[in-house]
Amino acid sequence: MGSIISPYLPKDAERAVREWTAGGKPAFVKAMEHSFTEAGCPNCGGGGIVYVVFCDKGPILSPPAGKVGTWFDGDGRYGRGWYVVSRTDGYTCPECKGIPRHTGRYVLPPKDVPESITQLAKLFGKKEQLRR
Ligand SMILES: [Zn+2]
Repeated sequence: MGSIISPYLPKDAERAVREWTAGGKPAFVKAMEHSFTEAGCPNCGGGGIVYVVFCDKGPILSPPAGKVGTWFDGDGRYGRGWYVVSRTDGYTCPECKGIPRHTGRYVLPPKDVPESITQLAKLFGKKEQLRR
């Protein structure tokens, strides 16, 4: 059984989220599901990176055609449904400082990378689905 992790963010990511949401657009921290917390970082799951999905609009009923969309279950702030993704940025995990235990080497956080997220989903099993 995997547990769902909602990572906490470094200061630069918090700032980016504040600026984005101040314009009335949604932003989400990518939740992560994995089964090997003890082998990795309890915040990021061992990848050294936490991800923020910056969205243009949502929720909508179906995945946006021709655009990247992400599903969100909903919380007190944002409703359940699909969201149109503007971009997904990685940030250095504040817990492990971006240094996965299994390599001991700093990982440069990638910017604007839906493909990387998809690859990561295969590795760790992300809660959200991503579509093109
Ligand atoms: Zn970490």
